[in-house]
This record gives sequence, structure tokens and C-alpha cells, in this order.
Amino acid sequence: MDTPKGKRLRSLDKTHIWHPFTQMREWQKEEPIVIERAKGNLLIDTEGNTYIDGVSSLWVNLHGHGKKTIDRAIKEQLGKVSHSTLLGLSNIPSIELAERLSKVVPKGLKRVFYSDNGSTAVEIALKMAFQYWQLKGEKRTRFVAFTGAYHGDTVGAMSVGEIDVFVKRFNPLLFKTYRAIYPYCYRCPLKKSHPECNLICVESLKKILSRHHKYIAACIIEPMVQGAAGIVVSPPGFLKEVSRLCKEYGILLIADEVATGFGRTGRMFACEHEGVKPDFLCLAKGITGGYLPLAATLTTDTVYKTFLGRYEDYNAFFHGHTYTGNQLGCAAAIANLDVFDHENTIKNLGPKTSLFSQLLSYIRELKHVGDIRNIGLMAGIELVQARKSKKPFPPSDRIGYRVCKEASKGGVFIRPIGDTIILMPPLSIKKSELRRMVQVVYDSILEVTG
Ligand SMILES: *Cc1c(COP(=O)(O)O)cnc(C)c1O
Repeated sequence: MDTPKGKRLRSLDKTHIWHPFTQMREWQKEEPIVIERAKGNLLIDTEGNTYIDGVSSLWVNLHGHGKKTIDRAIKEQLGKVSHSTLLGLSNIPSIELAERLSKVVPKGLKRVFYSDNGSTAVEIALKMAFQYWQLKGEKRTRFVAFTGAYHGDTVGAMSVGEIDVFVKRFNPLLFKTYRAIYPYCYRCPLKKSHPECNLICVESLKKILSRHHKYIAACIIEPMVQGAAGIVVSPPGFLKEVSRLCKEYGILLIADEVATGFGRTGRMFACEHEGVKPDFLCLAKGITGGYLPLAATLTTDTVYKTFLGRYEDYNAFFHGHTYTGNQLGCAAAIANLDVFDHENTIKNLGPKTSLFSQLLSYIRELKHVGDIRNIGLMAGIELVQARKSKKPFPPSDRIGYRVCKEASKGGVFIRPIGDTIILMPPLSIKKSELRRMVQVVYDSILEVTG
């Protein structure tokens, strides 16, 4: 089908839209899929084709599209007020959400600072940690982060991030960060395997902390799994050890759970897997169930109290975003938490996550699958030219892209990161949809790589 409406919209897209992370010259050659509607775990385009939302609309959707309770909460809030400022005023949904969040996150994180995306949630944690030490009279101005980290695309978030294609070009703009090794065991730079790899990575952090801890404000980590690095899951014990070292050296720990929060890894928050209590927790993506842009940076009373003082000392946290604490977003986020409560979302995930790993094991058999990494409902399938040498395909082959394009013909929308195929369906995905999704991905890899 090629409806006149679809045709017109695709043409206007090419005339006016600049897509994120996209080489637009390539985009111009293709016929983009234009989404018109969505229902449950399916996206529907202008031509009436349906696609399983295999990446949860970029890792945000949790309970499916058109979830009645979330839709209703937004509509009800719409009838009251859509937005008023949190500067000099407060509002009902932002207060209620803050209380609700403080009850579900790892213990001790009582104070909520709102913004509207993951990058700002990270910037806020970095600036708070920086100012915290300033107020304490210590000269801790540096951060330690991990190899392969992704924390967002703003300048501070890029400075702690380390994925070449994202940040290399902007290096002159970025502040210097200490870099510890994250256990990407499949491509261990030292060619060690677990558990030795784990030890080496922990050791790399320990080395930095023992030498430079006096100058380090905080350590930032994507707990349990680095998303944008290609779903790199850390071996058991790694996160716990990172947290222990930070405590030992008196360094604040920032947990960036923008991707992992709200059930993605099979627990409400990834920190729970190893009983870690960070000093900062950054939340965005799934916080509204994927309905509206909202983010939150949570911290402890200890951090919060350090900022208290006389007005004229100017110790307040001078940071804020115009849409901070937006009522519609907060109302959606409350409704999202209600779904977790009423539907026992986390408990019901168990059978789905085991089925998911079981299905993925069939894909492992394919000749060009180098590695499959999986936790909860997140998976990364790393495709390689040669399995034994782990040699990647040449970038110009665009293997990851081609597999995803093939999958869209089979009714599954997914997006790769390089040659790693990312699967991250909504938590509400049905078992039958999971089976279909993985089957289509299997067929698409086979079709493209032969
Ligand atoms: C997506 C992501 C971010 C950035 O969030 P945006 O809303 O895209 O700015 C930060 N950290 C992690 C771990 C992410 O996955």
C-alpha cells in the first residue's frame, strides 16, 4: 500500500526533519516508516502496517501503548492544569510523585530534583556532586567513569561518556575524566575472561581511586548493564565492588539508571541486583511509562543538607529547567507506578525473561553471531564477520542496519547500535509476540549474513 497521505508525509519528512544519530544522506535514499498510531506492543504506520515495538520506542515504553490508566491520568491532569512552574511554586503531581519515587528506589534517596530527559538528570547529578564537595571545602573537581559508558549527549554527560562515535569529535569541549575499565568480557582489552576480567576491572578502578581519590567528586556508572555500549552486562559482584570501593575512598556514587530503571533488568532498579545504595540516582526514559518527557535526579539527605544555608551565602543549587516538575509528566509517572503496583509487573516478568533468554539461545547458533548479552528484557546480539577471531564486519557493510531493515519487513521494529542488534521490548510484551519477534530477528540475521 502507498496511501497519498503516507506519500505526502514521507516527502515532507525528507524536506524538513533532521533525524537524531542519522546520516541524512542515507535517510534520503530510503522510504521512512511514518507511525500514525499504536496499540499495546504494536506500532502502526500510515499504510496500516503493524510492527512489534522491539525497542520500546527507544527504551521508554513499559506497559504498552494506549495503556488506559496512563492515558486517563494524563487526560484528567489535562483538565486541571498542564504546566505551572516549580520555581517559586509547587504542584500536586510533582509532590505526590516525589513521595512515591522515594518509596520504590533504593533506600536513602529521599530528595527529588526534576528535569525532562536523561542527559539533564545526569548533568544535575554531576553538578550537585561537584558543588557538594565545594561546600564541604574539599577540592574534588574530577569524576571517574567507565570505558564504553553512555550518559547522554549534553556536554557534561558526554565528558563522562566514552563511545568514540558519539564523543570523539567533541573532545576539545569536554572536561577530563578518569576512566576505569568496565567488564566488556567479550572484547576484554586484556584478553582475559571472567572471573579474572572482573578482578582486573575492579583493580583499574581501585588504582585510580587510591591515587587520585582526594580530587575525585564522584564515580558514575550504568549499574549492571551498559546500554548504548551494546547491552554489556557486568559479571556478578562487579557493581557491588564498585560501590564498596567508592565508600572506602569516600567518593559519591552516581547510578545512571536512565535505561535500567523501572523493571528493565527484571528488578525495579538495577542497583537492587546487588543491594547497592547510590548517593545519586538518575531516572528518565521509563519514568512515565514512555508517554511524556520527564526525568528525576534523586539524592540523599546528607547531600541535600550540605546545600542549606543563609540566602546571602548563595549556596543554593542554581540549576533548573523550564519544564521542571511538569504536571502532565508527573501524572503519567504516578500512573506508571500504579500499573507496577496493580499488575504486579515485576513479579510477572520472571517467566517472560526466562523465555526471552531461552529464545535468544537459538540465535546464538547462527554463524555470524559473536556474542549475545542479556539481562531482564534487554538483549544485545553482536554480529561479527568471523566468530573465532571476533573480527567485526566493515562499517560500510552496515550489517546491523540491514538486519533491522529486514526485520521491519517482517513486522518487527528494532534499531541496532553499530553491528549489535538491540532487543528491548516493552515489559508488557506477550509471550507469543516475544516468540515472533525473536523468530523474525533470527530470519533477518540469516537473510542478511547468509
Ligand atoms: C538514554 C540514556 C541517557 C540519556 O537520556 P536522554 O533522555 O536521551 O537524554 C543517559 N544515560 C543512559 C544510561 C541512557 O541510556
